[in-house]
Amino acid sequence: MPPADAPAGSGARMPRHDVVIVGAGAVGLVLACLLARRGLDVVVLERRTERGTHSRAIGIHPPGLRALAAAGIEQEVRRRAAEIQAGRVTCEGRVLGSLVFTRVGTVLSLPQLETEALLERRLEVLRPGALRRGVEVQALQDRGTHVEVTWSSAGAPVTAAASYVVGADGMRSGIRTLLGIEWAPQRGRAQYVMCDTRDDTGEPATALLHFEPAGVVESFPLPGARRRWVALVQRAPATATAEHMAAIVAARTGARFDVSAASGASAFEARQHLAGRMAQGRVALAGDAAHEISPIGGQGMNLGWLDAMRLDHDLAAALGAGAPYEAFATYDRVRRAAAARAARQAAFNMTMGAPATGVRLRLRNAAVRLLALPPARAMLARAFTMRWL
Ligand SMILES: Cc1cc2nc3c(=O)[nH]c(=O)nc-3n(C[C@H](O)[C@H](O)[C@H](O)COP(=O)(O)OP(=O)(O)OC[C@H]3O[C@@H](n4cnc5c(N)ncnc54)[C@H](O)[C@@H]3O)c2cc1C
Repeated sequence: MPPADAPAGSGARMPRHDVVIVGAGAVGLVLACLLARRGLDVVVLERRTERGTHSRAIGIHPPGLRALAAAGIEQEVRRRAAEIQAGRVTCEGRVLGSLVFTRVGTVLSLPQLETEALLERRLEVLRPGALRRGVEVQALQDRGTHVEVTWSSAGAPVTAAASYVVGADGMRSGIRTLLGIEWAPQRGRAQYVMCDTRDDTGEPATALLHFEPAGVVESFPLPGARRRWVALVQRAPATATAEHMAAIVAARTGARFDVSAASGASAFEARQHLAGRMAQGRVALAGDAAHEISPIGGQGMNLGWLDAMRLDHDLAAALGAGAPYEAFATYDRVRRAAAARAARQAAFNMTMGAPATGVRLRLRNAAVRLLALPPARAMLARAFTMRWL
């Protein structure tokens, strides 16, 4: 069990952790596992008392899988996930291009909640008690030699000290706000509806992208012979329903799915933002706290895991060298560049899926056909499997 932290102003000497991570989402948990594997004293503070119930991400790409392997859950993820081996783009029933990913590494599909549950269990094995739920961090104080992190417990402030703090507290990051870091909007904004259902396509390992005149409809394999459907809409409904989703899918693609087998219908707005800095003094940002990337193309979580891999390396080096103050200069440069690339790729994906008719539709279809031919095809497969994240 990690040592208890001190009530603020109690005069008690605060134990100093190596690293405090704020947020036990997919990114905070991977980072915690990586640091715990090194034997470092890491604590994760999470405001939710229980895990959420809504699975956002499903796609795990080869670089993301490397992070999960380093965290020690690769085999379990492979056992539970569905494999996406190929992708096909169609428009009005005609095939514009198809890709097989096996040469560049398959993409796995596993609901984010399941991945998080595996990570949480792994962390408990590596460092029992490291995850503390029901703790909402409210303040940070960078003292130069360490950082003080404050939350309230039963109405009284409690403070912990850490050599370094990582804000992995999601796109509405309070840590980013406390640091006064700019949150710059990027190109790419649109509304979508989605729902998971039984897979009746007969192609359980293929991602299907329908670039239709009325807007894109995409569907991806899920474990357990299920499939996730996502469709671009002009305006997301207040409450999304499986019936609404099925009607869109049928009208645009002619495909049908069993509404009675559907679950988790929801609507979301895809937006993009990048933090002006990913670190300040002894505090770093990681995952959605540092970059909000449109889910179209499924990059956000994987990008965050690669932040975690880099941070794991840089934090270990900094702690080993006696905790220098500016430990994150390379992290900030390298990971902000990667996030900017991901945002550009996602904006491109969204443009390709926008409604189009006439000359615009014909030009877009010609571009997709070209991209699906060698040598562009190899590049496209690398982009789809996120080799460059
Ligand atoms: C519909 C949809 C589909 C997606 N699909 C994909 C995909 O296929 N592939 C992919 O790579 N990405 C995908 N994404 C993106 C992915 O879901 C996010 O990038 C990922 O969840 C980010 O994880 P995170 O740990 O950075 O943040 P979060 O998951 O948001 O976790 C942040 C955590 O911090 C906690 N927290 C916040 N403030 C505090 C505080 N003050 N104190 C303590 N705790 C705090 C929160 O409770 C939360 O648990 C998708 C997103 C959406 C919306």
